[in-house]
Amino acid sequence: MTQKTVGYVELEWTCPYCGTRNPGTQKKCSGCGAMMGEEDQFEAPAQQELITDEAKLAQAKRGMADIHCPYCGTRNVAGSEKCRHCGGDLTGAVEREKGRVVGAFRAEPVADVPCPYCGTPNPANAVKCKKCGGALQKPAEAPPAKPAAAPKPRSRVAGLAIAAVVVLMSICAVAYFVLGSRTTDTPAVVQSVMWERSVAIMEQRPVTHEDWEDQIPAGAVVGSCSKEFRRTQSEPAPGAEEVCGTPYTIDQGDGTGKVVQDCEYRIYENKCEYTVNEWTVVDEAVAQGNDLNPQWPNLSLWSDQREGSRAEEYVVTFRADDKAETYTYDVDSASEFSRFDVGSYWTLKVNTFGDVTGAEAAR
Ligand SMILES: [Zn+2]
Ligand SMILES: [Zn+2]
Ligand SMILES: [Zn+2]
Repeated sequence: MTQKTVGYVELEWTCPYCGTRNPGTQKKCSGCGAMMGEEDQFEAPAQQELITDEAKLAQAKRGMADIHCPYCGTRNVAGSEKCRHCGGDLTGAVEREKGRVVGAFRAEPVADVPCPYCGTPNPANAVKCKKCGGALQKPAEAPPAKPAAAPKPRSRVAGLAIAAVVVLMSICAVAYFVLGSRTTDTPAVVQSVMWERSVAIMEQRPVTHEDWEDQIPAGAVVGSCSKEFRRTQSEPAPGAEEVCGTPYTIDQGDGTGKVVQDCEYRIYENKCEYTVNEWTVVDEAVAQGNDLNPQWPNLSLWSDQREGSRAEEYVVTFRADDKAETYTYDVDSASEFSRFDVGSYWTLKVNTFGDVTGAEAAR
């Protein structure tokens, strides 16, 4: 995150003796004359306006926290040598705390506040009624500075529904496993056998892909490109999209607040189509037979072709002893396949779904 400065505002403090709200840069209470104490905190005023007055702005930009006189407690400007109230030596005076977030920055106008004594509407920042001089209350608090995106609580109903689906799926899985593993011994005779072996034939062919411009392999033919979002970074960059959070105000310790915004930068980069030559399956050579001697197909490759992946399939068809039904059985290897002579007798393991899960030679 990059912290961007939006501007500066004057804060305010409330006198603990008489309750009067005072402008932040004022060190003495305008109600009773008491000095602002070290423990009295600055707060965001109801109506926040960025400082435009040049002298005030220059002071705010210095952002140096005031110091409190160790003898009388009076607030003095940072760097003072002698207390402006008692003249005491300020070497080693305590600096006010700074850096606290005082709240969200609200630039929009705040409604007038009616005087509790005479009802006259007064600006939200006014501390005294302009008509009768009565003390005015601060209007309702500003919303919190950085509202955390609270995770949406998933509704109870949705949670229960998900749980129900999970339970149901588990039951189905168990039932499938139980039914699939329960088998019946079925006597049968081999009626026919079938094998098929295939070899893929490959050639270099142009294939189009898409990737970030800096990821495209050398030698590729680059096609059309378009800017797409790639990543977010904390530092600004040319052409990046700036995304900033709600501005908020930080106590500078001198009666002013620095209004800042946390920003990040969305980087868009070129994504391009590109074409490269790649080994691609263009054809397949297949050999088939109905005996127990499977062969690989004869390949006649061109000079620019090469052999691809191989595949083999062996299927045995049985007829049940009672001749009512036939079963097919997929065999994994050629060596196992060679045992299934046509006319030989076997005991099949047939599961609830009618699938053959195993075969043993009978007699
Ligand atoms: Zn006071
Ligand atoms: Zn002093
Ligand atoms: Zn009034």
